[in-house]
Amino acid sequence: MGTYDKRTLVTGGAGFLGSHLCERLVKRGEDVLCVDNLFTGTKRNLGALLGDPGFELMRHDVTFPLYVEVDRIYNLACPASPIHYQRDPVQTTKTSVHGAINMLGLAKRVRARILQASTSEVYGDPEVHPQVETYWGRVNPVGPRSCYDEGKRCAETLFFDYQRQHALEVKVVRIFNTYGPRMHPDDGRVVSNFVVQALRGEDLTIYGDGSQTRSFCYVDDLIDGFLLMMDSEKGFHGPVNLGNPGEFTMLELADKVLRITGSKSRVVHKPLPPDDPRQRQPDITLAKTKLGWQPKVALDDGLKETVAYFRGVL
Ligand code: NAD
Ligand code: UDP
Ligand code: UDP
Repeated sequence: MGTYDKRTLVTGGAGFLGSHLCERLVKRGEDVLCVDNLFTGTKRNLGALLGDPGFELMRHDVTFPLYVEVDRIYNLACPASPIHYQRDPVQTTKTSVHGAINMLGLAKRVRARILQASTSEVYGDPEVHPQVETYWGRVNPVGPRSCYDEGKRCAETLFFDYQRQHALEVKVVRIFNTYGPRMHPDDGRVVSNFVVQALRGEDLTIYGDGSQTRSFCYVDDLIDGFLLMMDSEKGFHGPVNLGNPGEFTMLELADKVLRITGSKSRVVHKPLPPDDPRQRQPDITLAKTKLGWQPKVALDDGLKETVAYFRGVL
């Protein structure tokens, strides 16, 4: 096992991405404190980690202050799928904004490096394609997605102000749609929905005409990007896009899922939710140059892993 030379805090560590990150950090020998209120995360996601001496779970809501001694902070706490973040939208904004203030206050007191899990949603429904970090975005401030989008935008503002005002070593990554094992089967995101529907023989629900696009990154690739960003040279703060530039329509995704599962499900169309972005594709030039990062897992291969996971769960 590891040498525990670093004490690392992961907020939202019991969620989809957080649990993969905790696993990788413990494997690297870091002493991991996972803080999570278990709103969308579960202890089940943490599996064998719960008995590992390099790992500790604390049930805590990041909108309240937290006094611990750590060297590094990964701030992931925030529900990420539309049905979860829209269930209690005020709490979603509080989690992003108060959560960021508390974690930045903590980082400032203990002089920790701190990474923020931001999102491609800061670009809103973009008129620049593919999206580069210098693009300021087109976000509706008063729609049903705003609690998430504006909360994350404000969190970025706080990160850069703490950097300028208090010389904090902040690291901001903008994550594009990520998928893989341990997605919630019922969180409404497109990859989990399609895979679960296909495996159950239910209709695949395409919202709108299915011509909207997304770019899907496999979870292992994304975690590589997190670790490289946290370890990146002092003074590099981002924001940096992390995502897979392969761009697919929802119709293409449905076809792939049907082929890989061998399912006989049909495809049906449902209304498009308000403010649903038309297209999304990361420009990852910055991540390539500054971090030497690019995704390795093709969508077909990642979908096979994801399907295998859901077969086990269902
Ligand atoms: P998730 O819902 O599985 O994980 C979020 C975790 O945060 C959960 O374990 C939840 O219980 C916890 N949490 C929520 N509110 C909290 C609070 N107030 N205090 C403490 N813990 C709290 O989602 P995920 O997909 O793993 O996303 C993790 C992070 O990455 C989020 O910040 C999300 O915005 C960001 N992100 C994810 C994606 C993606 O495609 N998965 C894309 C862009 C950004
Ligand atoms: N905070 C925290 N843990 C710490 C230090 C601070 O949770 O170890 C919280 C604290 O409650 C405060 C917030 O972080 O509300 C911001 O802290 P900062 O020192 O930046 O601001 P101030 O305390 O001056 O408001
Ligand atoms: N979507 C879909 N069917 C579903 C779930 C989602 O067609 O069962 C669409 C959704 O309207 C959006 C895309 O898939 O255009 C990605 O949705 P998701 O919620 O996964 O991510 P986000 O919109 O946040 O990128």
